[in-house]
Amino acid sequence: MKFGGTSMAGTERIRRVARIVKRQQDAGHEVAVVVSAMAGETDRLVNFCREANPLYDPAEYDVVVASGEQVTSGLLAIALQALGAQARSWLGWQLPIKTVEAHAKARVDSIDADALIAEMQKGVIAVIPGFQGVSDEGRITTLGRGGSDTSAVAVAAAVKADRCDIYTDVDGVYTTDPRIVAKARKLQHVTYEEMLELASVGAKVLQTRSVGLAMKEGVRVQVLSSFIDDDAPAADTIPGTMIVSDEELEGMDMERQLITGIAHDKNEAKITLTRVPDKPGAVANIFGPLAEAAINVDMIIQNVGRDKGETDVTFTVPAADLARSMDLLEAAKDQIGFNRIIPDTNVAKVSVVGVGMKSHAGVAATMFRSLADRGVNIQAISTSEIKVSVLIEEDYTELAVRVLHTAYGLDAVEA
Ligand code: ADP
Ligand code: ASP
Ligand code: MG
Repeated sequence: MKFGGTSMAGTERIRRVARIVKRQQDAGHEVAVVVSAMAGETDRLVNFCREANPLYDPAEYDVVVASGEQVTSGLLAIALQALGAQARSWLGWQLPIKTVEAHAKARVDSIDADALIAEMQKGVIAVIPGFQGVSDEGRITTLGRGGSDTSAVAVAAAVKADRCDIYTDVDGVYTTDPRIVAKARKLQHVTYEEMLELASVGAKVLQTRSVGLAMKEGVRVQVLSSFIDDDAPAADTIPGTMIVSDEELEGMDMERQLITGIAHDKNEAKITLTRVPDKPGAVANIFGPLAEAAINVDMIIQNVGRDKGETDVTFTVPAADLARSMDLLEAAKDQIGFNRIIPDTNVAKVSVVGVGMKSHAGVAATMFRSLADRGVNIQAISTSEIKVSVLIEEDYTELAVRVLHTAYGLDAVEA
């Protein structure tokens, strides 16, 4: 069971979470619980780091931001004990949850679950702070924003759980963010592949890595609401959305939609380098330093060369990495040979996702036409086999999502 930030925001809500957990144990399950920090807490901690130094050391950032989950894991154990349950917390370094790769975006490598399983079999409820782990060097790491989902799937895989229930503040995965589009429809099932793509383009209901890991490890994941009464249907009846394999879905004999959903991402920043030499190696010089710093470049456009053998290169990076990206590019200015660097954080990426587009033409054309009709300008485009993304001015995000939701026939009949 995993509970997100809104579900853990304050002792009253933590007591409700404790009741939901206890109910699962009373129903005969052995349970491990992964928790997020209270809503807003991680943002607050991130801001402290930025204030201290915009170019903060990611290793120390991890020390700061991992603390939010330490608080809630202890509090949930206390709340469970108050209900007469046996419960204890295990911090990332105590289990341990070993991670590899960069600080602030570490990846789970292995979890030693022996002690955990032994205690769970004795009836102890294991409470584990999400988002955090420990590096080979014994330093605290974090898994990237929204990383508690990945912690939960990793723990589920390690204890070979029957299911990983992700409790959140909505009752499942919708065709788009239900907080933006009132007519969004709840999906009974969504495939790993589609969920992976939706998450990777901004549907933050699940962290992308958690879906990839669940797919790889065969973890059965359900997304469901923690804002439920004590007499709500049990999680075992699958009141939420199940993530299923393609074969499983085909077995259900359901009519498949061309488009599964629409997602948006306001956490991208656009960088334009003007007058870059139009010659072999130029873009390698730009993206090399960013790759070394583990900065993920997403959309890229290089214009056709103009006079004097120069061109402009535009690309997007996570907004959180903008300051560091600018710094790295400035440092490599002589080697790259550009004239100006123009950052822009007033952008958003809107994407349509669906396996159906593998076999249907015209999905992108519908998108461009619908946005054009509403006067939304497209600044960049990227595609994959099952998605089309466009970069637009941030102010138009909600409008664009609504317009596309209607254009692809996703609106709920009544709402
Ligand atoms: P938690 O704190 O529980 O991890 P998050 O805020 O990370 O919760 O994710 C849940 C939120 O994801 C919802 O409140 C909703 O606004 C947003 N969301 C975005 N896209 C979707 C979608 N397609 N279906 C459901 N929720 C979505
Ligand atoms: N607390 C972390 C965050 O806000 C991890 C999570 O909630 O999943 O990103
Ligand atoms: Mg989340």
